[in-house]
Amino acid sequence: MKIERPRGTRDFLPDEMERRRAIEAVMRRIAESYGYREIATPTFEHLELFTIKSGEGIIEEMYAFKDKGGRDLALRPELTAPVVRLFVNECSVMPKPLRFYYFANCFRYERPQKGRYREFWQFGVELIGSSSYLADAEVITLAYRIMEELKLDFELHIGHVGLLRHLLRDVEEEKAAIVMRLIDKKDVEGLIKHLEEIKAPQDLSEAILSLIELSGGRDVLKDASELTGFDIGHMEKLCDVLDSMGVEYTIDLGIARGLDYYTGVVFEAYAEGLGAQNQICGGGSYRLAHLFGGEDVPSTGFALGFDRIVEICKLTPEEKTVVVVANVGLENEAFKLADLLRRHGICAITDVMERSLKRQLSFANDVNARFAVIIGKKEIESGRYTVKDMASGESLQLEFDSLLEYLSSNIKYKKS
Ligand code: ATP
Ligand code: MG
Repeated sequence: MKIERPRGTRDFLPDEMERRRAIEAVMRRIAESYGYREIATPTFEHLELFTIKSGEGIIEEMYAFKDKGGRDLALRPELTAPVVRLFVNECSVMPKPLRFYYFANCFRYERPQKGRYREFWQFGVELIGSSSYLADAEVITLAYRIMEELKLDFELHIGHVGLLRHLLRDVEEEKAAIVMRLIDKKDVEGLIKHLEEIKAPQDLSEAILSLIELSGGRDVLKDASELTGFDIGHMEKLCDVLDSMGVEYTIDLGIARGLDYYTGVVFEAYAEGLGAQNQICGGGSYRLAHLFGGEDVPSTGFALGFDRIVEICKLTPEEKTVVVVANVGLENEAFKLADLLRRHGICAITDVMERSLKRQLSFANDVNARFAVIIGKKEIESGRYTVKDMASGESLQLEFDSLLEYLSSNIKYKKS
């Protein structure tokens, strides 16, 4: 019986993994250049960590289960809540702000389709301890620089949930949460129906429907302020910084984000070439720490949809140069030489199938080896190895030091 992998999961072959790692490396490099440091949290958490304030959407989508001790657990559907839990448990006395990044798999029971999987990866950051527009500016710029460096064709939209929340201030929390979720889903019909159902006053409904249509340059902020009476000073200052950094964006007051914990600036990025699942980044400022037993600390962060980015990113990893060390009845010598080469940062492969020289060389071709080094009796006696350039077919006889120099100067290698 052949066992298939579970629906919505994927296997990654070496070519794909190399591409993924190269893209991941860019994300890490840029996050680290901003002073963010990596953290890791468990793959599963107590279910309540996610049910406290993550919104109904995420609860329905969760891989929740009871362990053998009867505890309610869930595979993490995202990492913001786990990171804030970690902060409350481990780091609340550390000097603020804290700058963390993560790269991890997440699990959601969703209908699998292009760009939507049941196991997928997120690369994200959380900047903990500030509610300043400067914190928003830093996090947004960081996300922007990553997408720019990866040469993605993307559009960044920035909004502020404070305006919607201000309009909804007299609406019951649960009903308001549904309003936010319908706006997040861009379900205007559903929104109108819900506003009627909850008997929202006419002027409130009109204000909400006008506000979510507001999008464009930063001048729409003034219209938004007039419409809602909300002070947009924070947004203006944020736009000043972003403009001075050359970060391009669209102001979009229809961004609500699916999760209930966002409180201020929110942003999303959309990319070409993904069809319906075109959102590659989501983030904003939020307050969660007090819900997990900590002090009320403001934070801001984002998560990049790694798999969707991999799908559209054109970045190709540098090809690794492979050297095959072939032998004629001298397996130990081949092992020793390969070991030495590896210690000098060269990727060396030896025969483990006890094959003939001819078949070892043919395998060197199969794995696209750049060179084959051959060890036979003659080579041992003369102290010179035969190096074959697999592309040209030419051979050279070299002593170890010269061999090392020759290979090193001809291969792309990174000594780490
Ligand atoms: P969507 O509306 O596409 O479901 P979301 O609002 O649920 O996204 P977030 O919780 O903000 O997404 O997660 C951040 C990013 O993770 C998204 O922008 C998206 O690129 C990616 N993502 C979310 N769910 C999936 C999934 N099931 N498969 C692959 N990527 C995903
Ligand atoms: Mg979703």
